Amino acid sequence: MKTYGHYIGGRAIESSAQSQDVFNPALGKAVAKVALASAAEVGTAVETAHAAFPAWAATPVAKRAQVMFRFKVLLERDAKRICEAISEHHGKTIDDAMGELIRGIEVVEYACGAGEILKGEHSKNVGPAIDAWSEFQPIGVVAGITPFNFPAMVPMWMFPMALACGNAFVLKPSERDPGAALILAELLEEAGLPKGVFNVVNGGKEAVDALLAHPLVKAVSFVGSTPIAEYIHTTGIANGKRVQALGGAKNHAIVMPDADLDNAVSAMIGAAYGSAGERCMALSVAVCVGDSVADDLVARLKTAIAKIKVGAYTQDGIDMGPVVTAQSRDRIVDYIGKGVAEGAELVVDGRGITVPGFENGYFVGPTLFDKVKPGMAVYTDEIFGPVLCVVRVDTLHEGMALIDAHEFGNGTCLFTRDGEAARYFTDNIQVGMVGINVPLPVPVAYHSFGGWKRSLFGDLHIYGPDSVRFYTKRKAVTQRWPASGIEEKTQFAFPNMAR
Ligand code: NAD
Repeated sequence: MKTYGHYIGGRAIESSAQSQDVFNPALGKAVAKVALASAAEVGTAVETAHAAFPAWAATPVAKRAQVMFRFKVLLERDAKRICEAISEHHGKTIDDAMGELIRGIEVVEYACGAGEILKGEHSKNVGPAIDAWSEFQPIGVVAGITPFNFPAMVPMWMFPMALACGNAFVLKPSERDPGAALILAELLEEAGLPKGVFNVVNGGKEAVDALLAHPLVKAVSFVGSTPIAEYIHTTGIANGKRVQALGGAKNHAIVMPDADLDNAVSAMIGAAYGSAGERCMALSVAVCVGDSVADDLVARLKTAIAKIKVGAYTQDGIDMGPVVTAQSRDRIVDYIGKGVAEGAELVVDGRGITVPGFENGYFVGPTLFDKVKPGMAVYTDEIFGPVLCVVRVDTLHEGMALIDAHEFGNGTCLFTRDGEAARYFTDNIQVGMVGINVPLPVPVAYHSFGGWKRSLFGDLHIYGPDSVRFYTKRKAVTQRWPASGIEEKTQFAFPNMAR
């Protein structure tokens, strides 16, 4: 059985004291092993990155951008191989894997503009013969710790910009689907990235804790569940690191009485059930304003759900794959049971489905609850599965109050034809990413991604303009070149432009 190891200093490292199984969730069986890095192995990766950092930081920005250009071309060349690696361990359809890869490539394309992005600011003659400027300098070794649900895209939310800014990087991907990250490492090297600038350590908590404790790691980008995000943020900050930690979500869409329901239903089906609901921007709650909208929406969703094809990524015409592990399936099934027990109306039950030829797969079918109330576990908790809850309210304000009261504030959407309502919603809702008739408002690569409340710990969002702030230190330089022969007088007053 293949073991996914580490990639350190341009070498694939296969040996590791410990390993664990990697599953193909459609088959429901272990198909590989992943090495679990010890603290010592993480230390080697960090020190390797630290050694490679000065030369990479001193590499002209145009050369760093050229590596990104070549990397983009290689990602496109090897897209099929990367998508198969994603789907085999994650379970998502190949189309969906291609979607995440393309969104990752868009961040690489943004990083290709490093020369423009890192230009800094310049002010001439701020005083007599004095010029001033601010510049962005790399910070050193940056660690990225990523979740299972986007094994290619989320790492690419981080390292293309970190590298383009002149940093060295150590990636700790999810131990549940380690295949894609190692391909990315190989392609970066083929693109001309010097050995040691990008490293991958596979592993679990021990590897993460070693990264958080290592004094040479200067910044940590994390994406995963909220309890771990909070832990990473608290521990990383206590250890003197810069930290951005993106957490979980419970994304609500409000459906107004004037919404175009045909379009809303089609958008909501993809956003709720695509990737089996295993997306931090997945739509989990549909808040209907008025009972007649709710009745109509639930009937239409029910009809649309009946057409969703669940199966393995190797089958044709599949809309939705299995969930990632048997534990995830059991957790989701448990939540569906809790929803019934707490009095929500189960309109479509996804429990107990089997896919012919894949009887052991971790499948949960699309599930729809109506008449869900705040306080029920299916409403409050992030289920991270194909479960959509319909909540009924009387007004837009009531729906917005629900969203604002929720622990998470990642994404949200308003379905409406009313510009005034849309503007009010956008201005006032306490959520980081807002869609108007756009159910998955994931910002494009040149706008940063980040939620509010307990969906993000830290000040800066990920990728886009915020990534330059996160992955660099600013330095302000004030420089004076007085003309020769001019007598300098000692000045005891605080330097100022006398009026
Ligand atoms: P997870 O929190 O279990 O794991 C994320 C990373 O943390 C992995 O690399 C894992 O090895 C590591 N980790 C897990 N337990 C740890 C521990 N006790 N100590 C230290 N490190 C630990 O998340 P997941 O199940 O892989 O991914 C799903 C979660 O990620 C969902 O909550 C989802 O909403 C969230 N997510 C958020 C975003 C976002 O942008 N906000 C994007 C994708 C996923």
